[in-house]
Amino acid sequence: MSAGPVSPPATLGLLGGGQLGRMIALEARRMGYRAVVLDPSPDCPAAQVCDRHVRAPFKDAAAVEEFARACDVVTLEWELIPMETLESIARLKPLFPAPPVLSFIQDRLRQREFLASHGLPQTAFAAASSREELRAAAKKVGLPAIAKKRREGYDGKGQWALSAESDLDRDFIDGNPCVLEARVDFEKEISVILARGREGEISFFPVAENEHRDGILRVTRAPAPLPADLERRAREIGAAVAEKLGHVGVLAVELFVAKTGELLVNEIAPRVHNSGHFSFGACATSQFEQHLRAVCGLPLGDPRLLSPAVMVNLLGELWSGGEPDWSRVLRRPELRLHLYGKAKPAPGRKMGHLLALHENLDQAGRIAVSALGELAASRRKLI
Ligand code: AMP
Repeated sequence: MSAGPVSPPATLGLLGGGQLGRMIALEARRMGYRAVVLDPSPDCPAAQVCDRHVRAPFKDAAAVEEFARACDVVTLEWELIPMETLESIARLKPLFPAPPVLSFIQDRLRQREFLASHGLPQTAFAAASSREELRAAAKKVGLPAIAKKRREGYDGKGQWALSAESDLDRDFIDGNPCVLEARVDFEKEISVILARGREGEISFFPVAENEHRDGILRVTRAPAPLPADLERRAREIGAAVAEKLGHVGVLAVELFVAKTGELLVNEIAPRVHNSGHFSFGACATSQFEQHLRAVCGLPLGDPRLLSPAVMVNLLGELWSGGEPDWSRVLRRPELRLHLYGKAKPAPGRKMGHLLALHENLDQAGRIAVSALGELAASRRKLI
């Protein structure tokens, strides 16, 4: 279902109430929109800042209909919303991104095949759903490799590093259809965050450099220190992905800069992304506002970087001795604190982030990392 522009004070519907939904809702509320979230969790981060929370499982057909009827336009913060739910919403209200986009993304194998069918660069891959197929896949892509669950893996969950022949006998594959990917020997990881509007117009945020540990994003630096031709190529790949998908909204493409100098697509996220959080504070328009503008059919905003920025994620382990002493970091004028309002910290759980702004990117990095160290130290004193 398509529609004309959706302007404030119309109602935005959000599928998924995590931190991404919360930040979209914060920007929507600032602009005078109303916001409704569908999420099963009673205390999800987005519900705290929305006008209304439809608290129900994503597969509850009656709740899904009630939610859709309350909205003028619907979007999502999580790409694994069940296809039936997406399709039933799209029959009632404009929904961006559209269900066919998600059908390519929800399954890692389809995502890889989509990239291959458009000649977009990526590491060697092969499907495997049994130990025999895993052996055949390893022959094709080589070792070391990483097996990733086709569905529902995130933040490094549902992934198995395979380095030796003996790893191919492990039982993780039983009942877990996977894609086997050749491990990339990379120089760095970057992401292209862009927005594509309903008329196909594209606007890019600065390319960012990302550091992961244990499969979880830890640090993002923007702008990524990159040669101009590599940056241009990264943007071209991002634009091709968005166009070929027919995507509307913000889209993130995570890329490896291989030691060979090649750019290889790691993963596509058809939504706002953790590696674009720096834009909320460092750019004239945040990725959350830009997403809202795109799905509402409004002109895209100015994505210009106002200051070099470094973002560090605050993970649940920081809370192991109680609430960290925030006053320690809030003394520094370069730092912005974002907390997502999650009640229960758990190791690896994204609870918030810090954003350091400084005219010198390296200095922004030092400020962010030393603030994280201070928070950890404040926690240790409490243990
Ligand atoms: P993913 O959830 O697929 O984005 O993987 C999380 C992180 O694991 C990535 O950001 C990389 O740091 C690492 N990783 C994933 N796939 C590969 C690969 N094929 N080669 C090397 N590192 C990888």
